[in-house]
Amino acid sequence: MITIDCSRTLAIKDQLLVYVADKLEVLPILQSDKFTLTQIYDAQIINKSDVLSAIIEFLESVNLKNSFQIIPKVDNIIIDPLEGKDMKENLEKLGGNNKDLFFECTHCGFLTQYEGELKTHKLIHYV
Ligand SMILES: [Zn+2]
Repeated sequence: MITIDCSRTLAIKDQLLVYVADKLEVLPILQSDKFTLTQIYDAQIINKSDVLSAIIEFLESVNLKNSFQIIPKVDNIIIDPLEGKDMKENLEKLGGNNKDLFFECTHCGFLTQYEGELKTHKLIHYV
């Protein structure tokens, strides 16, 4: 049984829980600001290093690896945010609606992150 303490990183808790539990095929038990991974069947062994690499993989997948430090204690893993200028922005991106970050062409639904690119794109509808 390994507990992952997300009390300082609640914004990523739910997504992290799903990712890690899926990856390791273990049963997550959700508590208010942490979750515990337990065996699905008796003989199953939950390896702390597997849990750690799953957490790192998750952070990499959402581009937040450099925003957190992972502190392994005995049966506890604490995820601590590193204060950084991109932190707030990254969390907002993760928690918010990703579509807000894109400019959408009203004619065909083309999506781009750059307003200038959208303007250029729109020209094709006027030729
Ligand atoms: Zn278009």
